[in-house]
Amino acid sequence: MNVPFVDLSRQPKKVSRAINMAIRRVILSSDYILGKEVSKFEKEFAKYIGVKYCVGVGSGTDAILLSLISLGIGKGDEVIVPAMTFTATVSPIILAGASPVLVDVSSQTHQINVEKIEQVITKKTRAIIPVYLYGYMPDMDKILSIARKHNLLVVEDSCQAHGSLYKKKKSGSLGDIAAFSFYPSKNLGAYGDAGAIVTSRKDLFEKIIALRNHGQIEKNNHTMIGYNSRLDTIQAAILRVKLSKLDMENKSRARIAEEYDSLLANLPIKKIERNEDNKPNYHLYVVKTKKRKKLINYLRKNGIESGIHYPIPIHLQTSFKKLGYKKGDFPNAERIANESLSLPMFSALSIKEIRYVVSILKKFFKKKDYRGYYFR
Ligand SMILES: *Cc1c(COP(=O)(O)O)cnc(C)c1O
Repeated sequence: MNVPFVDLSRQPKKVSRAINMAIRRVILSSDYILGKEVSKFEKEFAKYIGVKYCVGVGSGTDAILLSLISLGIGKGDEVIVPAMTFTATVSPIILAGASPVLVDVSSQTHQINVEKIEQVITKKTRAIIPVYLYGYMPDMDKILSIARKHNLLVVEDSCQAHGSLYKKKKSGSLGDIAAFSFYPSKNLGAYGDAGAIVTSRKDLFEKIIALRNHGQIEKNNHTMIGYNSRLDTIQAAILRVKLSKLDMENKSRARIAEEYDSLLANLPIKKIERNEDNKPNYHLYVVKTKKRKKLINYLRKNGIESGIHYPIPIHLQTSFKKLGYKKGDFPNAERIANESLSLPMFSALSIKEIRYVVSILKKFFKKKDYRGYYFR
């Protein structure tokens, strides 16, 4: 049996048909740039998240960059981010001209360690970017209260958290502004690169509408230096179809996660702990084991693909060398980089496949007696 990590081709026929029709509609209208489907998607996505505004942009990375620029964050400013995240949370801070300041993550939840945020706040700190890693969320009440106390902005990196909830509020509706990615393998994925920014602040919305489109506020009137980062009409049309299926797909992922949870209960691997105020969208199903390398090979030999999110923490990436951090600075991020493993997870994964993955995991750990090996 072969079990892929993610298989985007397994889409219900009905959904594929609706998407084909949506693409055709755009082609027949030749409405390719900032067409009607874009504004329709923006309205629908803002409503889904529970905010006033949404602006479609070219990618999740651009969504973070334009969010920071719209907030006036740049030279001389510091922005707090977790040390374990995808590189695209951090590079936009540098591209905007500001400095990232890293904070270690919790070894239980893998989210930013909220107890450590205040220690790194300086006079230069302007914003915190909580990252909703794997679609889980940190203690947002605490982060929002720290932000209020120190007058900081909160930019949510919601790129993995489409539909995740914190106390019944959607991820993306808690801070000043939030960034989403619609990279194909995200819970809400386009057929190429795409992203969006959501906010309830009108000033930011108006600025980003111009920023994404050459700084233009009306034809030939450019009031600021802008970018070319628009959401393609074809991608917006596809996203509208997929948005209508998102909650259903997230429910399937939750069922898969429950199945994994119960079947893996007695194995010597560590699972991610979840904040009780958070209902994740199960973008990824991550476990930790000291036998990662051997386990990955064993899974592969048995036809099972797995992933690592992420094998190198931010402070040890070559591109961030200039930040001046060194090995040992963020021990939890380093341990997660060395021990975490993402099991196959996508809404169309079958029960049969899950049981097969678990049976192979059980076989692996039976080979030698690892019982009790990894419990605290
Ligand atoms: C995917 C992702 C991004 C970047 O999104 P792109 O659309 O690939 O540019 C940023 N942050 C996190 C946490 C992500 O998972």
